[in-house]
Amino acid sequence: MATQHASLKRLRPPLSGFIVDGFNFCEADVRHYLLTHAHSDHTCGLHASFDLGTVYCSSVTARVLRATIGLPEKRITTIDVGQSIEVEGVQITALDAGHCPGSLMFLLEHLATGHTALHTGDMRASQDVREAVCAALLRRGLLRLCHRCNHSPSPTTSAIAATAAATAAAETTDAAASPSPLAVDVLYLDTTYSSPRWRFPPQPDALRCLAAVTAAELRREPRTLFVVGSYQVGKEKAIAAVARAAGGRALLSERRALSLKLCGLWDAELHTVDAADPQVRVHVMPLSAGVEAHEAMGALLQRHGERYAAVVTFRPTGWAYSKSDEAGLPKPWVEGAGSTRMYGVPYSEHSSWEELQAYTDTAHGVIQWERSLVVIASLQP
Ligand SMILES: [Zn+2]
Repeated sequence: MATQHASLKRLRPPLSGFIVDGFNFCEADVRHYLLTHAHSDHTCGLHASFDLGTVYCSSVTARVLRATIGLPEKRITTIDVGQSIEVEGVQITALDAGHCPGSLMFLLEHLATGHTALHTGDMRASQDVREAVCAALLRRGLLRLCHRCNHSPSPTTSAIAATAAATAAAETTDAAASPSPLAVDVLYLDTTYSSPRWRFPPQPDALRCLAAVTAAELRREPRTLFVVGSYQVGKEKAIAAVARAAGGRALLSERRALSLKLCGLWDAELHTVDAADPQVRVHVMPLSAGVEAHEAMGALLQRHGERYAAVVTFRPTGWAYSKSDEAGLPKPWVEGAGSTRMYGVPYSEHSSWEELQAYTDTAHGVIQWERSLVVIASLQP
């Protein structure tokens, strides 16, 4: 969830010609608007007649914007993961944010001064994502060696890191004392969770948990309908994990199906918009919680009573994290004499605490922390 705060939207000089995810914070002297991804808390303020400048985003986000907001093609410049473009003396590189389809982080370099900033919107800083940041910083000469990533580098990172390590070893000056900047000068973190108490499992573990609970519920009651809570974009892996474990298809609204197609994730084996499809075992609905969720499950049972004997709802979100669940499968909240059952599963598309720590270390080259400025906004400390 993006914070709506001007200090995190317009970048600091000399990059103040750019606003990130800030269409409610447009200014007359800014013509360049970076957009990290298509979630509504980041696109808010953007509309079809937007004419204050250019929107820079990924191809996936651009397709979603054109289809849902009606933003004209001429207003959009696409930049995809690994690509760099130059805009008014600023080199912009797009990095994978690991959040939802098409989500980006932006590395900006002011070519005249060497000033650098890394803007992070919503992200899941998994090891892959961190290594890609490390590789980009190494490639741009902004980092000599990432001590964290170097422990288990990817092949690409490994080659770059090895070169950087050799260069660093050959130098006689102490890197920490070097006047040249290492890593980024300003790191913008617009993060949802920022506290040691948020320790989500890695996504693959959370997906295995969803599959295991689905299998266990089917053993308990073979005529179970599963509901997966989802946003308009995001949670696609959770939907697929439950559909596969249930051995059927997920029923989606036309609107949700369109977003899957725009993201290139539509799979006819796993998804359908046909409510009469006999393979439907999963419904995809907006995330709900509490008594309302049980009431919705009860209504589903009434509507489909001839086909299903129980409804199980999954809330795949970091907000569902509970330390007591770390030991095994999560416990359901059961109502209706066992016929409606709700599980919170900490499948998160945001970073856990350890990932956030490792990411900030990478972005600052570990030893350069005291030289860098970190601008943080967090909804949930
Ligand atoms: Zn988001």
